Amino acid sequence: MTTPTRAVAGIEGKVAIVTGGTRGIGLAIAGALADAGAEVVVSSRSESSCAEAADAIGGRGVACDVQDPAAVERLFQVVTDCQLFVACAGLSSPGLARDLPLSELERMMQVHYTGAVDGARRAAAQMKTLGGGSIVLVTSVWGLGGQPGTLAYGAAKAALAHAVKVLAIEWARDQIRVNGLAPGFIDTDMTSEMPGGVRDKLLSRVPMRRAGTPEEMAGPAVFLLSDAAAYVTGHTLVADGGERAR
Ligand code: NAP
Repeated sequence: MTTPTRAVAGIEGKVAIVTGGTRGIGLAIAGALADAGAEVVVSSRSESSCAEAADAIGGRGVACDVQDPAAVERLFQVVTDCQLFVACAGLSSPGLARDLPLSELERMMQVHYTGAVDGARRAAAQMKTLGGGSIVLVTSVWGLGGQPGTLAYGAAKAALAHAVKVLAIEWARDQIRVNGLAPGFIDTDMTSEMPGGVRDKLLSRVPMRRAGTPEEMAGPAVFLLSDAAAYVTGHTLVADGGERAR
Protein backbone atom coordinates (compact mmCIF):
# COMPACT_ATOMS: atom_id res chain seq x y z
CA MET A 1 0.00 0.00 0.00
CA THR A 2 1.25 3.53 -0.80
CA THR A 3 1.24 6.34 1.77
CA PRO A 4 -1.97 8.34 1.31
CA THR A 5 -1.34 11.80 -0.11
CA ARG A 6 -4.63 13.14 1.29
CA ALA A 7 -6.39 10.81 3.71
CA VAL A 8 -10.17 10.97 3.38
CA ALA A 9 -12.60 10.03 6.19
CA GLY A 10 -14.54 6.90 5.35
CA ILE A 11 -11.89 5.82 2.81
CA GLU A 12 -8.66 5.72 4.81
CA GLY A 13 -7.76 2.22 6.04
CA LYS A 14 -10.62 0.52 4.18
CA VAL A 15 -10.32 -2.24 1.58
CA ALA A 16 -11.74 -1.18 -1.79
CA ILE A 17 -12.45 -3.28 -4.86
CA VAL A 18 -12.71 -1.57 -8.25
CA THR A 19 -13.89 -3.80 -11.10
CA GLY A 20 -12.75 -2.49 -14.47
CA GLY A 21 -10.01 -0.80 -12.46
CA THR A 22 -7.17 -1.41 -14.88
CA ARG A 23 -7.65 1.55 -17.20
CA GLY A 24 -9.85 4.55 -17.98
CA ILE A 25 -12.39 5.68 -15.40
CA GLY A 26 -11.87 2.67 -13.11
CA LEU A 27 -8.10 3.16 -12.93
CA ALA A 28 -8.54 6.88 -12.15
CA ILE A 29 -10.99 6.03 -9.35
CA ALA A 30 -8.68 3.29 -8.02
CA GLY A 31 -5.73 5.71 -7.97
CA ALA A 32 -7.76 8.37 -6.16
CA LEU A 33 -8.93 5.82 -3.57
CA ALA A 34 -5.32 4.76 -2.97
CA ASP A 35 -4.34 8.44 -2.57
CA ALA A 36 -7.19 8.80 -0.07
CA GLY A 37 -5.78 5.95 2.03
CA ALA A 38 -7.69 2.86 0.88
CA GLU A 39 -6.13 -0.55 0.29
CA VAL A 40 -7.22 -0.97 -3.30
CA VAL A 41 -7.82 -4.16 -5.28
CA VAL A 42 -8.14 -3.58 -9.02
CA SER A 43 -9.80 -6.12 -11.22
CA SER A 44 -10.41 -6.84 -14.91
CA ARG A 45 -10.30 -9.84 -17.26
CA SER A 46 -6.56 -9.61 -17.93
CA GLU A 47 -4.03 -10.88 -15.35
CA SER A 48 -1.24 -8.73 -16.79
CA SER A 49 -3.35 -5.54 -16.81
CA CYS A 50 -4.34 -6.21 -13.20
CA ALA A 51 -0.68 -6.60 -12.19
CA GLU A 52 0.31 -3.44 -14.10
CA ALA A 53 -2.51 -1.31 -12.65
CA ALA A 54 -1.89 -2.64 -9.14
CA ASP A 55 1.77 -1.64 -9.50
CA ALA A 56 0.83 1.82 -10.72
CA ILE A 57 -1.40 2.60 -7.73
CA GLY A 58 0.41 0.56 -5.08
CA GLY A 59 -2.46 -1.88 -4.62
CA ARG A 60 -3.35 -5.49 -5.43
CA GLY A 61 -4.66 -6.96 -8.66
CA VAL A 62 -7.06 -9.89 -8.99
CA ALA A 63 -8.29 -10.97 -12.44
CA CYS A 64 -12.04 -11.45 -12.72
CA ASP A 65 -14.45 -11.50 -15.66
CA VAL A 66 -17.65 -10.09 -14.17
CA GLN A 67 -19.67 -12.09 -16.72
CA ASP A 68 -18.54 -15.27 -14.97
CA PRO A 69 -20.24 -15.81 -11.57
CA ALA A 70 -17.56 -18.33 -10.54
CA ALA A 71 -14.86 -15.70 -11.14
CA VAL A 72 -16.79 -13.12 -9.10
CA GLU A 73 -17.13 -15.66 -6.30
CA ARG A 74 -13.35 -16.28 -6.45
CA LEU A 75 -12.65 -12.53 -6.25
CA PHE A 76 -14.59 -12.37 -2.99
CA GLN A 77 -12.78 -15.44 -1.67
CA VAL A 78 -9.45 -13.71 -2.24
CA VAL A 79 -10.70 -10.42 -0.76
CA THR A 80 -12.65 -11.03 2.44
CA ASP A 81 -12.88 -7.57 4.01
CA CYS A 82 -14.29 -5.30 1.32
CA GLN A 83 -15.88 -2.09 2.66
CA LEU A 84 -15.79 0.00 -0.51
CA PHE A 85 -16.94 -1.40 -3.85
CA VAL A 86 -16.95 0.25 -7.27
CA ALA A 87 -18.54 -1.59 -10.21
CA CYS A 88 -16.87 0.01 -13.21
CA ALA A 89 -16.23 -2.95 -15.55
CA GLY A 90 -17.81 -2.30 -18.90
CA LEU A 91 -17.62 -2.09 -22.65
CA SER A 92 -19.78 -0.50 -25.29
CA SER A 93 -21.93 -2.16 -27.92
CA PRO A 94 -23.17 0.36 -30.47
CA GLY A 95 -25.76 -0.68 -33.01
CA LEU A 96 -29.23 0.23 -34.18
CA ALA A 97 -32.05 -1.72 -32.55
CA ARG A 98 -33.11 -3.55 -35.72
CA ASP A 99 -29.58 -4.92 -36.29
CA LEU A 100 -28.61 -5.98 -32.77
CA PRO A 101 -28.45 -9.74 -32.20
CA LEU A 102 -30.33 -10.90 -29.11
CA SER A 103 -27.05 -12.32 -27.80
CA GLU A 104 -25.67 -8.78 -27.66
CA LEU A 105 -28.60 -7.60 -25.51
CA GLU A 106 -27.86 -10.47 -23.15
CA ARG A 107 -24.09 -9.85 -23.09
CA MET A 108 -24.54 -6.19 -22.16
CA MET A 109 -26.95 -7.15 -19.36
CA GLN A 110 -24.49 -9.76 -18.08
CA VAL A 111 -21.55 -7.36 -17.92
CA HIS A 112 -23.22 -4.12 -16.83
CA TYR A 113 -26.17 -5.34 -14.76
CA THR A 114 -25.87 -8.97 -13.59
CA GLY A 115 -22.09 -8.75 -13.12
CA ALA A 116 -22.29 -5.46 -11.22
CA VAL A 117 -25.16 -6.63 -9.00
CA ASP A 118 -23.41 -9.95 -8.34
CA GLY A 119 -20.30 -8.07 -7.14
CA ALA A 120 -22.35 -5.60 -5.11
CA ARG A 121 -24.24 -8.41 -3.33
CA ARG A 122 -21.05 -10.23 -2.42
CA ALA A 123 -19.44 -6.96 -1.27
CA ALA A 124 -22.52 -6.13 0.81
CA ALA A 125 -22.37 -9.52 2.54
CA GLN A 126 -18.83 -8.71 3.69
CA MET A 127 -19.73 -5.10 4.57
CA LYS A 128 -22.57 -6.30 6.78
CA THR A 129 -20.18 -8.33 8.94
CA LEU A 130 -17.78 -5.35 9.10
CA GLY A 131 -20.38 -2.82 10.28
CA GLY A 132 -21.16 -1.19 6.94
CA GLY A 133 -19.70 0.10 3.71
CA SER A 134 -20.27 2.10 0.59
CA ILE A 135 -20.90 1.11 -3.02
CA VAL A 136 -20.75 3.05 -6.29
CA LEU A 137 -22.24 1.54 -9.43
CA VAL A 138 -20.97 3.27 -12.57
CA THR A 139 -23.94 3.79 -14.87
CA SER A 140 -24.10 6.25 -17.80
CA VAL A 141 -26.08 9.21 -19.06
CA TRP A 142 -27.05 6.84 -21.88
CA GLY A 143 -28.98 4.81 -19.32
CA LEU A 144 -30.92 7.90 -18.25
CA GLY A 145 -32.44 8.81 -21.61
CA GLY A 146 -32.91 7.40 -25.10
CA GLN A 147 -30.06 7.73 -27.57
CA PRO A 148 -30.08 6.05 -31.00
CA GLY A 149 -27.63 3.16 -31.27
CA THR A 150 -27.52 2.44 -27.53
CA LEU A 151 -30.30 -0.11 -27.07
CA ALA A 152 -28.17 -2.88 -25.54
CA TYR A 153 -25.73 -0.70 -23.57
CA GLY A 154 -28.27 1.91 -22.46
CA ALA A 155 -30.86 -0.63 -21.30
CA ALA A 156 -28.25 -2.43 -19.19
CA LYS A 157 -27.16 0.88 -17.62
CA ALA A 158 -30.82 1.85 -17.02
CA ALA A 159 -31.29 -1.46 -15.20
CA LEU A 160 -28.22 -0.70 -13.10
CA ALA A 161 -29.59 2.77 -12.26
CA HIS A 162 -32.72 1.03 -10.97
CA ALA A 163 -30.57 -1.35 -8.91
CA VAL A 164 -28.94 1.67 -7.22
CA LYS A 165 -32.32 2.65 -5.75
CA VAL A 166 -33.46 -0.84 -4.76
CA LEU A 167 -30.17 -1.86 -3.15
CA ALA A 168 -29.89 1.48 -1.31
CA ILE A 169 -33.29 0.92 0.29
CA GLU A 170 -32.76 -2.77 1.08
CA TRP A 171 -29.27 -2.34 2.57
CA ALA A 172 -29.62 0.96 4.45
CA ARG A 173 -30.41 -0.94 7.68
CA ASP A 174 -26.97 -2.61 7.38
CA GLN A 175 -25.22 0.79 7.16
CA ILE A 176 -24.44 0.19 3.50
CA ARG A 177 -24.89 3.12 1.13
CA VAL A 178 -25.38 2.52 -2.60
CA ASN A 179 -25.05 5.31 -5.15
CA GLY A 180 -24.66 5.63 -8.89
CA LEU A 181 -22.17 7.66 -10.91
CA ALA A 182 -23.38 8.49 -14.42
CA PRO A 183 -20.55 9.81 -16.58
CA GLY A 184 -21.23 11.67 -19.80
CA PHE A 185 -18.73 11.55 -22.69
CA ILE A 186 -15.34 10.67 -21.20
CA ASP A 187 -12.10 10.26 -23.17
CA THR A 188 -11.09 6.62 -22.65
CA ASP A 189 -10.35 3.55 -24.78
CA MET A 190 -14.11 3.00 -24.92
CA THR A 191 -14.78 6.27 -26.75
CA SER A 192 -11.50 6.48 -28.70
CA GLU A 193 -12.73 4.34 -31.59
CA MET A 194 -15.85 6.40 -32.16
CA PRO A 195 -15.85 8.00 -35.66
CA GLY A 196 -14.85 11.69 -35.50
CA GLY A 197 -18.23 12.84 -36.86
CA VAL A 198 -20.16 11.01 -34.13
CA ARG A 199 -17.82 12.33 -31.45
CA ASP A 200 -18.24 15.93 -32.67
CA LYS A 201 -22.02 15.57 -32.80
CA LEU A 202 -22.20 14.17 -29.27
CA LEU A 203 -19.85 16.82 -27.87
CA SER A 204 -21.81 19.62 -29.58
CA ARG A 205 -24.63 18.84 -27.11
CA VAL A 206 -22.35 19.23 -24.09
CA PRO A 207 -22.59 22.78 -22.68
CA MET A 208 -18.94 22.59 -21.55
CA ARG A 209 -18.03 21.75 -25.19
CA ARG A 210 -15.44 19.11 -24.35
CA ALA A 211 -15.15 15.50 -23.27
CA GLY A 212 -14.50 14.72 -19.60
CA THR A 213 -11.33 13.01 -18.40
CA PRO A 214 -11.19 9.81 -16.33
CA GLU A 215 -9.61 11.85 -13.50
CA GLU A 216 -12.70 14.08 -13.46
CA MET A 217 -14.78 11.00 -12.53
CA ALA A 218 -12.55 10.17 -9.55
CA GLY A 219 -13.62 13.12 -7.36
CA PRO A 220 -17.37 12.36 -7.60
CA ALA A 221 -16.72 8.65 -6.91
CA VAL A 222 -14.51 9.35 -3.87
CA PHE A 223 -17.10 11.82 -2.57
CA LEU A 224 -19.93 9.27 -2.84
CA LEU A 225 -17.84 6.57 -1.16
CA SER A 226 -16.58 8.81 1.65
CA ASP A 227 -18.07 10.06 4.92
CA ALA A 228 -18.67 13.41 3.19
CA ALA A 229 -21.67 11.66 1.61
CA ALA A 230 -22.71 9.87 4.84
CA TYR A 231 -26.42 10.77 4.36
CA VAL A 232 -26.46 10.21 0.59
CA THR A 233 -27.81 6.91 -0.66
CA GLY A 234 -29.88 5.82 -3.64
CA HIS A 235 -28.66 8.83 -5.60
CA THR A 236 -27.08 8.93 -9.05
CA LEU A 237 -24.58 11.71 -9.52
CA VAL A 238 -24.39 12.87 -13.13
CA ALA A 239 -20.94 14.07 -14.25
CA ASP A 240 -21.44 15.11 -17.87
CA GLY A 241 -20.33 18.68 -18.47
CA GLY A 242 -23.96 19.80 -18.29
CA GLU A 243 -25.39 17.52 -21.00
CA ARG A 244 -28.37 16.33 -18.91
CA ALA A 245 -29.16 19.86 -17.77
CA ARG A 246 -30.80 20.45 -21.19
P1 NAP B 1 -12.28 1.43 -20.62
O1 NAP B 1 -11.19 2.40 -20.53
O2 NAP B 1 -12.44 0.63 -21.85
O3 NAP B 1 -12.16 0.45 -19.33
C1 NAP B 1 -13.05 -0.61 -19.16
C2 NAP B 1 -12.56 -1.47 -18.03
O4 NAP B 1 -13.47 -2.56 -17.82
C3 NAP B 1 -11.20 -2.10 -18.30
O5 NAP B 1 -10.48 -2.22 -17.08
C4 NAP B 1 -11.58 -3.48 -18.83
O6 NAP B 1 -10.50 -4.38 -18.69
C5 NAP B 1 -12.76 -3.80 -17.92
N1 NAP B 1 -13.70 -4.81 -18.41
C6 NAP B 1 -14.37 -4.87 -19.57
N2 NAP B 1 -15.15 -5.96 -19.63
C7 NAP B 1 -14.96 -6.61 -18.45
C8 NAP B 1 -15.48 -7.82 -17.90
N3 NAP B 1 -16.36 -8.59 -18.57
N4 NAP B 1 -15.08 -8.19 -16.66
C9 NAP B 1 -14.20 -7.43 -15.97
N5 NAP B 1 -13.66 -6.29 -16.44
C10 NAP B 1 -14.04 -5.90 -17.67
O7 NAP B 1 -13.71 2.13 -20.41
P2 NAP B 1 -14.19 3.35 -19.52
O8 NAP B 1 -14.68 4.38 -20.46
O9 NAP B 1 -13.19 3.69 -18.48
O10 NAP B 1 -15.49 2.70 -18.86
C11 NAP B 1 -15.57 2.38 -17.48
C12 NAP B 1 -17.04 2.36 -17.09
O11 NAP B 1 -17.60 3.66 -17.29
C13 NAP B 1 -17.88 1.38 -17.92
O12 NAP B 1 -18.82 0.74 -17.08
C14 NAP B 1 -18.60 2.29 -18.90
O13 NAP B 1 -19.80 1.75 -19.33
C15 NAP B 1 -18.78 3.54 -18.04
N6 NAP B 1 -18.98 4.76 -18.82
C16 NAP B 1 -18.05 5.21 -19.68
C17 NAP B 1 -18.29 6.40 -20.38
C18 NAP B 1 -17.29 6.99 -21.36
O14 NAP B 1 -17.65 7.96 -22.06
N7 NAP B 1 -16.06 6.50 -21.43
C19 NAP B 1 -19.49 7.09 -20.20
C20 NAP B 1 -20.43 6.59 -19.32
C21 NAP B 1 -20.17 5.42 -18.61
P3 NAP B 1 -10.31 -5.72 -19.60
O15 NAP B 1 -10.74 -5.38 -20.99
O16 NAP B 1 -8.87 -6.05 -19.47
O17 NAP B 1 -11.19 -6.76 -18.96
